[in-house]
Amino acid sequence: ELMQGPGGREEKIFVSIRLRPLNEKEASRNDVSDWECINDDTIIYRNNLSVSERSMYPTGYTFDRVFSFDCPTRQVYKEGAKDVALSVVSGINSSIFAYGQTSSGKTYTMSGITEYTVADIYDYVNKHNEREFVMKFSAMEIYNESVRDLLSADSTPLRLLDDPERGTVVEKLTEETLRDWNHFKELLSVCEAQRQIGETSLNEASSRSHQILRLTIESSSREFKGNDKSSSLSATVNFIDLAGSERASQTLSAGTRLKEGCHINRSLLTLGTVIRKLSKGRNSHVPYRDSKLTRILQSSLGGNARTAIICTLSPARSHVEQSRNTLLFASCAK
Ligand code: ADP
Ligand code: MG
Repeated sequence: ELMQGPGGREEKIFVSIRLRPLNEKEASRNDVSDWECINDDTIIYRNNLSVSERSMYPTGYTFDRVFSFDCPTRQVYKEGAKDVALSVVSGINSSIFAYGQTSSGKTYTMSGITEYTVADIYDYVNKHNEREFVMKFSAMEIYNESVRDLLSADSTPLRLLDDPERGTVVEKLTEETLRDWNHFKELLSVCEAQRQIGETSLNEASSRSHQILRLTIESSSREFKGNDKSSSLSATVNFIDLAGSERASQTLSAGTRLKEGCHINRSLLTLGTVIRKLSKGRNSHVPYRDSKLTRILQSSLGGNARTAIICTLSPARSHVEQSRNTLLFASCAK
């Protein structure tokens, strides 16, 4: 249940659920919305089911927070991610994940959260003139256990190296020092363009790949600059838009997709194992090294790092099996 947090506090993973609205496509095929957030922390499967069906679905699922279909992303950010994300300015590493089936709202949620975080970091920086801040941004995609730089047109897979001081390092990953907000927005569009180039050559790539955007904040006191090392801080916050969670359950797919399926499974399944082990305490071996995703995130997952997971949910009756899988994953993480 609990992990050791910053300053020796017991820290657990903050787990929330975000239900999206029924979309037009679903409404037009007479799909219905079956889930309801009954308060701030509980979501239920509505009981308009036959008696025999009802016994298959536990009615209430409770988490740190649940966000209903009409909740704006700003509120999801404020109540589900902000504290964890902003701990980066105090020198604490963190990771924010979006987990859920394809089309449940992961990218919609994570892109909003990333922007709100960067805006708040700029706000913080402007209010703390006594320190000097440097923000560095990098972005990568993991597809088939192969890591690609999203800030570079060169799609050569990047290698992971073990650095004795810094842990796992992504070799040759582009790291841009942010000049200002507009520069950040420009870099986001570079990522988006790189991602789409990948998608046209790789079928359905966005549902099969993991995207990691990372921001490293270094700061030092202006007063003691140069002679007081203890006044310098450096930490990283990671925003992870995971591959569609349906990839974790589709072990055997046909033909060429078999390899992709297995690899997607490896990163998503390993992440699931790592998160389950972390949420149960630190007594057992945590298999960070079993996948690229967990290796890259090791220093920002567990230990003194802070983690928030937002599980996105389609309300549609036709997606109920995937939604239940997502809630199961979320229950194991809390
Ligand atoms: P995923 O990344 O999980 O595949 P997306 O984020 O692309 O899913 O969302 C699928 C579609 O649903 C998009 O058109 C998106 O704009 C819309 N959508 C997702 N979540 C919401 C929400 N909470 N409110 C309104 N529209 C949403
Ligand atoms: Mg997406």
